[in-house]
Formats: sequence, C-alpha cells, structure tokens
Amino acid sequence: MAILLDGKKLAQKLKSEILEKSVVMKSAGNTPALAVILCGDDPASAVYVRNKRKDCEECGFDSLEYKLPADYGEEKLLALVESLNQDPKVHGILVQLPLPRGYDETRIIHAISPAKDVDAFHPFNVGKIMIGEPGFLPCTPAGVMLLLEEYGIDPAGKECLVIGRSNIVGKPMAMLLLRKNGTVTIAHSKTMDLASKCREADILIAAVGKAKLIKADMIKPGAVVIDVGMNRDENGKLCGDVDFAECEKVASYITPVPGGVGPMTRAVLMKNTLQAAEESQRNL
Ligand code: NAD
Repeated sequence: MAILLDGKKLAQKLKSEILEKSVVMKSAGNTPALAVILCGDDPASAVYVRNKRKDCEECGFDSLEYKLPADYGEEKLLALVESLNQDPKVHGILVQLPLPRGYDETRIIHAISPAKDVDAFHPFNVGKIMIGEPGFLPCTPAGVMLLLEEYGIDPAGKECLVIGRSNIVGKPMAMLLLRKNGTVTIAHSKTMDLASKCREADILIAAVGKAKLIKADMIKPGAVVIDVGMNRDENGKLCGDVDFAECEKVASYITPVPGGVGPMTRAVLMKNTLQAAEESQRNL
C-alpha cells in the first residue's frame, strides 16, 4: 500500500511557519496583505475566495476582498487593479478566475504589477520560471514540489510524466521538475497511447480534470503518483484524476483528493504573499 503524501498536514506546518514571520512583520508595522478580487457570482470562485480569507487569518495577514458585480466593467476593474498596484499596504493581488464573459482575462492579468502577482501568472514571472530566476512560483506546481521534498522524493534522473499542459499547472509543473533534473515528458489531449507513457513514469503528475482517468494498470509499480485533478464523481463526491482506491495498491507514494495538492496550493499562495511583503520592506 502506498504512503500518503499528506498535503493537509504539510500545509498546516507551512502556514504556522508563515504566521511566525508575519507576527514579526506586523509588530514592525508591515502586516502582509492580500487583495482578492471576485467579479461575478460563480459559486466555486466564491468558495475559493472564502478559503483564501481563512488562510490569511491563519497566517496573520490582512485580507482585502473586492466583491464586484459581473457587469462592473473591464475599465473599472483595471482601475481597481492599478489602485491596488499603487497601494503600499497591499502586497499581493489576486483576481479570481474565471472572470465573467466579456472580460479580457489576459489584459487584467497583465495589469497586475509583477511584484504583487502572487499567483505568478504575469508573463514577467512566467518568464522567470522558464529561465530559473528567483521570483514567485506558481502555487499548484510549487506546492507539489514542496510535497515531494518533504517526503524525500528527488526528481533528479527520474522519468517524470506531467499529464496536462495548462499555463497554470501543466507547463510550469514541467519546468519545476526540469529544474530539479527530472527527465520530463508532457502528455496532453492529443497524446497517443497515454497508458504506455504512464507506465514509464517514476513520478506521474495528473492535471487533467477527468475523474479517475488514471487506472492502476497505467501505473509503474512503485511510482510516485500526484493527483492535481479536482472533479466530482458520479455521486457528486470530490475526486481526482487518479482512481485512488486501485492506484494506491501499486504506487509507492500517492496524494489523496481532497487533502493532497489542494491545501498545498493554498499554502503556497500565502508563502508568495509573505515573500511579496518581505520584498516590499527590503525595497523601502
Ligand atoms: P485545463 O482544462 O486548463 O487543462 C487540462 C489539460 O488536460 C489540457 O492541457 C489537456 O490537453 C489535458 N487533457 C485533457 N484530456 C486529456 C486526456 N484524455 N489525456 C491527456 N491529457 C488530457 O485544466 P487545469 O487548469 O490545468 O486543471 C487541471 C485539473 O487540476 C482540474 O481538475 C482542476 O480543477 C485541477 N486543479 C487543481 C488545483 C489544486 O490546487 N488541486 C489547482 C489548479 C487546478
């Protein structure tokens, strides 16, 4: 039976370390602050925003929430982002995606100051990830890397398969594994014979969004299996891209859903916000 990669536990540990640092910053008059913009009434986004507020509380951060109607308008939204860019008391800015129909998400993301782009979605930060310069790391892939590190799993020289090529998970995940000297393959919707690619992987990372796509006979015995997917199964229960019950019998390590990658993503957002606040203090 595989060992569980407990993201919930590690995220809690990270958040308590962050709290210790933020308490010191607060006493020096520089409380880390995250501004979250929620435009429209997408129910899943509302849950994510609520969780971010809770995480900020746990880390001793100030959290500013901007709940805007769907018809707020792109120009006004850009003006709000710009005012947050200029506000020295705000260290991180996050615009909850997806935005309602009619908004140009790319334009909004590009408007966030790279120094406050704690999601690491701005092309400036994406470029840094690509060339390995220090900066913000994207929350989900960085959370996966911290989890691997915590359990002593070194990607160096290993066959790493990332399934999914999105800009927020798949592509940056591949870059971070490459930085750690993994031999990285990216599979996607047009990949031929996904099963045989999976069977070669020492570290398999599924970021697709299809419930239980990855079956036990696709896993190399002893492989490390990381499940980024967040889906609902036929009974409406949260599940990943990996058929957990079957795959845990073959893998050496595996992340549960929930309690694996999700909490790590949230913890890295807090880590990035702390980093932004520390850097703003250095630049005073
Ligand atoms: P996306 O829809 O942008 O990308 C999905 C990727 O899967 C695409 O690149 C596509 O080519 C690939 N794909 C689709 N069908 C495939 C198939 N049959 N075989 C191989 N590849 C296939 O999604 P995303 O934003 O990257 O998110 C992926 C999943 O991860 C979703 O379930 C999402 O909810 C979840 N997610 C979880 C977290 C977290 O914190 N746990 C964070 C972000 C995303």
